[in-house]
Amino acid sequence: MRVLILEDNQVLAEGLKQAMTSAGFAVDMLHDGKQGSQILQYQEYDLLLLDLGLPGIDGIDLLRQLRSANNQLPVLIISARDQLDQRIEGLELGADDYICKPFEPDEVIARARALIRRTSQRADSVLRYGDLSFNSSQRKLFRNNQPVELHRRELSVLEYLLSNADRVISKDQIADHISSFDEDINPIAIETYISRLRKKLGKQFRLKTVRGLGYLLEPADG
Ligand code: CA
Repeated sequence: MRVLILEDNQVLAEGLKQAMTSAGFAVDMLHDGKQGSQILQYQEYDLLLLDLGLPGIDGIDLLRQLRSANNQLPVLIISARDQLDQRIEGLELGADDYICKPFEPDEVIARARALIRRTSQRADSVLRYGDLSFNSSQRKLFRNNQPVELHRRELSVLEYLLSNADRVISKDQIADHISSFDEDINPIAIETYISRLRKKLGKQFRLKTVRGLGYLLEPADG
């Protein structure tokens, strides 16, 4: 899951980035509203963490821009404690949640996961597929409650596939959602992760290759 942190306090942004990266997110970070607005025009994200007081374009204006362009990206506002009016305005403009500074990175991570879950209409943090269950907060995969060892990137690819089951998704899409500015993953590499996943997860993992288009995770047996 790829997130954009838009926060001009560099120390705060860097700390959050590190915590979220350790928690398994692909994290991009920018400190200027104008740059943020530009990248949001071509890069897809699973979540935006948006500071309200930003140079370039203010957080509220950026949010207004996003929603008037009909961009439904989940937005979590990061605000100073005294910015009550702006928080309310942000929520009315279509932000999904807010958190006040100072905050614990763990709380931001929990809220980020909850928002992403809500967007994909899931009730809990576990993605299930047949006898597999992927716990997205622990970043662990289990088969009948036994842990299955997967590489960090294999887990990210699997998480994206499970979140998009019954939909054809392309290698580019997968690469895009698990890459960040710091770690650009080539779509060709996705083939390698997919083939390792198939090998490790066996026939029950019904991932179909759709020629020229990508992959389709078919419903699990039973
Ligand atoms: Ca700020």
